Amino acid sequence: MELKTDPFPNLPQRIIGLRDLAESLWWSWHPAARMLFKRLDRQAWKESGYNPDKMLKELPTEFLESAASDPDYLRHYDVVLSQFRKDIGRKCCLLDDIPGPNIHAIAYFSAEYGLHRSLPFYAGGLGFLAGDYIKECSDLRVPLVSVGFMYPGGYMRQCIREDGWQENVDEILDREAASISRVLNDHGEQVVVKVPLIEPPIYVAVWKIAVGRVSLYLMDTDIELNDPWNRGISANLYTGDIEQRLRQEIILGIGGSEVLETLGIRHSVLHLNEGHAAFALLERIRDRVREGISYEEAVHQVGSTSLFTTHTPVPAGHDVFPFQLMEKYFHSYWPALGLNRDAFLQLGIHPNEPNAGFNMTAFALRISGYRNGVSKQHAQVARRMWQDLWPDLPEEEVPIDHVTNGVHVPTWIEPKMELLFNRYLGPKWLEDHDNPVVWELIEEIPDDELWRTHYWVKIKLIDAIRERSRRRWAKDRVSASIVLAGGTLLDPSILTIGFARRFATYKRADLIFHDMQRLKKLVYDRWRPIQIIFAGKAHPADDPGKRIIQRIFNAALDPELGGRIAFVEDYGEQFAQYMVHGVDVWLNNPLPPMEASGTSGMKAALNGVPHLSIMDGWWVEGFNGKNGWAFGEEEEEEGENRDQADASAIYRIIEEELIPLYYKVSENGVPHDWVRVMKESIKSNAPRFSARRMVKEYIHKFYVNALKEA
Ligand SMILES: *Cc1c(COP(=O)(O)O)cnc(C)c1O
Repeated sequence: MELKTDPFPNLPQRIIGLRDLAESLWWSWHPAARMLFKRLDRQAWKESGYNPDKMLKELPTEFLESAASDPDYLRHYDVVLSQFRKDIGRKCCLLDDIPGPNIHAIAYFSAEYGLHRSLPFYAGGLGFLAGDYIKECSDLRVPLVSVGFMYPGGYMRQCIREDGWQENVDEILDREAASISRVLNDHGEQVVVKVPLIEPPIYVAVWKIAVGRVSLYLMDTDIELNDPWNRGISANLYTGDIEQRLRQEIILGIGGSEVLETLGIRHSVLHLNEGHAAFALLERIRDRVREGISYEEAVHQVGSTSLFTTHTPVPAGHDVFPFQLMEKYFHSYWPALGLNRDAFLQLGIHPNEPNAGFNMTAFALRISGYRNGVSKQHAQVARRMWQDLWPDLPEEEVPIDHVTNGVHVPTWIEPKMELLFNRYLGPKWLEDHDNPVVWELIEEIPDDELWRTHYWVKIKLIDAIRERSRRRWAKDRVSASIVLAGGTLLDPSILTIGFARRFATYKRADLIFHDMQRLKKLVYDRWRPIQIIFAGKAHPADDPGKRIIQRIFNAALDPELGGRIAFVEDYGEQFAQYMVHGVDVWLNNPLPPMEASGTSGMKAALNGVPHLSIMDGWWVEGFNGKNGWAFGEEEEEEGENRDQADASAIYRIIEEELIPLYYKVSENGVPHDWVRVMKESIKSNAPRFSARRMVKEYIHKFYVNALKEA
């Protein structure tokens, strides 16, 4: 069904496999494959935005021909291609006996995917979780297909004005130049699907990204068939317009199911990554009712084969749609289920607030037979939050289980660190990286080698920051103060704290500014100073979040802080890589219990950047007393007092623990006690908070059981 004209007519036959490689995101988490593109031409690689599809289209033929006749390049090419073909060609692990290429056991729905800098379909943590999840499913050969949205204008570039206010610059994605392909029908035209039951009709065009073995289908409403209002449905992630938001979610759940149906992709189990796609449950019920099964039986069947993963304890993070909007869009839908209006709306009611509207989380929890939170603590909070849905059960028996998040190790490991691990953990460590025993060999790495590798990576981070500032200065003619606040005065020899994430207010990015005098003393210390690098975007509609950015930006400009606070603009996947690899400590101080899990600290920990975190999310499970630092265990107070107490705890840990460890070096310049914490951080966290451990847990806790019911 996916015919294509040759997009790279210049590619010599001898290296024709680069075409397949460029069209599967597999290359992005295999360094040898990345190098294969980089070797064609370093400059072109960079200028393409690390996007092989774009690069191969633009590269002059001579470059390709010269590679095709270079024996050294060809050797490299043959090795990579043979591994690629082997990985992609292997059979699925769960259902070896099911024939046919179009049968997928599990369909995974998510509103966002964070896969690579060239594919801007994410806002933050939820997207990276989904991206890491499907990459790991590819590595583990899980028979899974995934569905999401194409947001052609989804990428909001962040520019900070001179007064520190965040401006958003929309960038429109060049669909033809990204590693995305149109899904074509038998006539060679792009597949366009009509979203069922919505009048006047809405159409979506279907695109595909090959994430290794896993196909990700993306829906795009920006096509001529749709009127302007409908075209704009997929313009941005998480629009604030409630009706447009409802229409997005109808398309994601109901349209997404229809896309799979149209492509002939059958699935036995549905996995909802957060509530945005929960209407997919309705489609599954409707299908069965249409086949003549009673509504009750259909609900039972769908429940026993559907898994819902809830991701947020923040009340505003759950979508609630007004009843009149639900009526407007679903009045012709509920008869198809055999329900009347009231019975239909009841499905989404929160027992405590029956008049608030249709709550997507309440709905998903009611219908799905398997449910989980994303850390041990989050599941506890979720059981308390949703206890009223199960009035007959005590809180601890509320059926919400947990699978703690993890990160895709091949994606987030720094390449130089990976080489070091290859030397000391044995060449096969990556294949068995969720096995804690493998990581015991971290002890074999000499302290000075680990330290020098880290130091090299830190210099790379600071160089990247300077280069960004230089470009802003030279190209955009920004003022000197913007260049300064962007981190030009950073010094690699100084203890460097990193804080980078979305600027939602509960994350309290400016907590460390609570006591300015105490902070100034720390950054101003003549012999043992600290510096802090911040990065992150606020949602375009989140003014309180933007005010926090402004506060930090102004601090970065304050001469009293000596250029040791930096705010780096436009946080995205690429800069996240530099940050989680290159700072010395990863700071995390949300207001508990708002951080369901958090994943950036896991990415850092894996690279020997220990976590300094409040006890919340994954750190409740991760902290073992020697692999980083923790605070805020007993605090119950809210508001100013809580901030005061937490900020004091951070200062105390920096003053009494971080600084002495970091600055005490041996005669060869190695801080052995600090390296001890780095090693503990890697060894204890890397296997447990890997996407591999996570996906295996989803398989064993849920998929296997749900597949038995299918
Ligand atoms: C990992 C990641 C996140 C998620 O970070 P949290 O710790 O969950 O807040 C957000 N943005 C980017 C770019 C990331 O790489």
